[in-house]
Parts: sequence; C-alpha cells; structure tokens
Amino acid sequence: EGARVVILGRPNAGKSTLLNALLGFNRAIVSSTAGTTRDTIEEGFVLDGIPLRIIDTAGLRETDCEIEAEGIRRAEAHSEEAHLSLYLLDASQPLHEEDRSRLEKLVPERSVIILNKVDQGRRIARLPNPESRTVEASLISGTGISELKQAMAETL
Ligand code: GDP
Ligand code: MG
Repeated sequence: EGARVVILGRPNAGKSTLLNALLGFNRAIVSSTAGTTRDTIEEGFVLDGIPLRIIDTAGLRETDCEIEAEGIRRAEAHSEEAHLSLYLLDASQPLHEEDRSRLEKLVPERSVIILNKVDQGRRIARLPNPESRTVEASLISGTGISELKQAMAETL
C-alpha cells in the first residue's frame, strides 16, 4: 500500500504547499489564514519507484477550537504510525517553543526537517536535532524540492 509519509508543523509553515509541490497539482488549499487545513488529506505518490502515502495534516498549535483540536489529535496519531515525518518550520521566524518540544520528540532515522521560507530570511540558527537531516527550502518557488526528495528516498 506504500510507506506512510506525514507532513507536520505549525499552521502556515507551508505544509499544504509541500503536499501540492510533491504531487505536482493543487490538491490542498494553500492560504495565509492559519488553521485552513483541519482534517488530514491523504494521497498516493511514487518517489523514485517507491510507492508512498503522503498525509497533509492540521497545523500543530495550542487551540481552544474543538474541531481544530480533533485535527491536531489526528495529525499526532498519523505521526506515530508514519514511516517518515516531514517536519516543516517557517525558518524566517524564530523557533517557536511549541515546535521546540515537538522537534525534541522526532526520531532522527524517521524524520526530515525542512527549513522553509528562506526567501524571507533565516532566523532559525540551531535546532535541537543535531542528528536529523535538514533541508533548506522556499517551497513557494520550488527551491529545495529536489534535495528534499533525495533526502526522503535515502531515509525511507
Ligand atoms: P500550512 O498551513 O502549513 O498548510 O501552510 P500553507 O501551505 O497553506 O502556506 C501558508 C502560507 O505560506 C501561504 O500563503 C503560502 O503561499 C505561504 N508560503 C508557503 N511556502 C512559502 C515559501 O517558501 N516562502 C514564502 N514567502 N511563503 C510561503
Ligand atoms: Mg495546510
């Protein structure tokens, strides 16, 4: 059925942009409104002959909204089952405390960290994941996608 790849990160990090870039069509709604993706979106995808299931998720953040909270619980459940987690950060902003605690829980052999939005500058210097693979990207223009695909293929 394919290895499961889950896309994780805070609202607005660029998760849905990444899903669309990998698929090559606009499957998910991309918006600057945080909380646009509430339920998980799953699609099949073949990377270098490897069949994958790629899962876009609700942005991870503290919330009082029960629907959004359910989306976040689903994202967390998917992340536990995933063969590979793609953890997106908006690297043009300082590292958020909620990201720090989630990053610390990632398994290095099963995750790739993406420093997105470097077209707007880079304000994240050091990550709490010295062993994890990281890729710089500007997904809005497609920069970093080929390096990310290579990192994915090598990690899977
Ligand atoms: P999600 O909430 O994590 O799914 O984020 P989206 O994919 O919906 O993107 C949130 C916003 O960030 C949208 O307005 C995107 O166009 C924008 N965005 C995504 N990637 C980049 C990037 O590399 N650079 C810049 N400047 N904006 C980006
Ligand atoms: Mg989204």
